[in-house]
Amino acid sequence: MTAEGGLRLRGLRKSFGAMAVLRGVDLDVAPGEVVCVIGPSGSGKSTLLRCVNHLEPLDAGFVQVDGLLVGYEPRDGRLHESSERDTARARLRMGMVFQQFNLFSHLSALRNITLGPVKVLGRDPAEVEAEARELLARVGLAGHADKLPGQLSGGQQQRVAIARALAMRPSVLLFDEPTSALDPELVGEVLAVMRDLADQGMTMVVVTHEIGFAADVADTVVFMDEGVIVESGPADRVLRHPDSARTAAFLAHVR
Ligand code: ADP
Ligand code: MG
Repeated sequence: MTAEGGLRLRGLRKSFGAMAVLRGVDLDVAPGEVVCVIGPSGSGKSTLLRCVNHLEPLDAGFVQVDGLLVGYEPRDGRLHESSERDTARARLRMGMVFQQFNLFSHLSALRNITLGPVKVLGRDPAEVEAEARELLARVGLAGHADKLPGQLSGGQQQRVAIARALAMRPSVLLFDEPTSALDPELVGEVLAVMRDLADQGMTMVVVTHEIGFAADVADTVVFMDEGVIVESGPADRVLRHPDSARTAAFLAHVR
């Protein structure tokens, strides 16, 4: 990858009390690459995403997005916390889509999408609204702009959440099990939107149990266990011919 583009994780460590949850994670995600992260419950996948976008502070290591350090800067051979302004600027390069959607329940689908670009980026409300309507159409919800989250299905809410993330024009999207809170019949519509984004060249890191999606859409599959990346490589290779017995055992269990 180029020095400037994509996502670079180096030596990420994170403990909660005595429990080491990330024990040295290195990963590069090139612009346009789709990385699916798989692994057992409790292996540190959500913590990884939360540390990458600085929702959780790191104990050690660093994250770079588009060449910008996220939350830390090296000085005197050590990492120091960046200014709030620099941290905010780096974090804006990343969009996050959560398992539980996290929409504002008192705001319409449209307002959920326009809030960030208007309030955080200070963009022109009329222009943002036009763009939000285009985004709603892109995720198949053109007729639903004025509905509240409670009036939408889980699959529709998650598609609004994806549109909301896109409205901030991020260079990387992070997904934390975006379909695991959905009824089975609603999973496909969300995965289809994600597949379109991948086809359009979006850089994505997707924590998922959807092995079929990973096989079809991911460039790279990463298997995590106990806070480390056990193996990573081309999706086809890792999913069909894993190097590690732990990966093979996990895949046998989830398929
Ligand atoms: P995964 O997403 O792979 O299921 P998580 O990153 O959610 O794993 O959790 C990894 C471990 O860290 C689990 O044992 C979990 O209980 C613990 N953990 C996660 N977040 C916190 C937290 N804020 N405080 C304490 N323990 C946490
Ligand atoms: Mg998780």
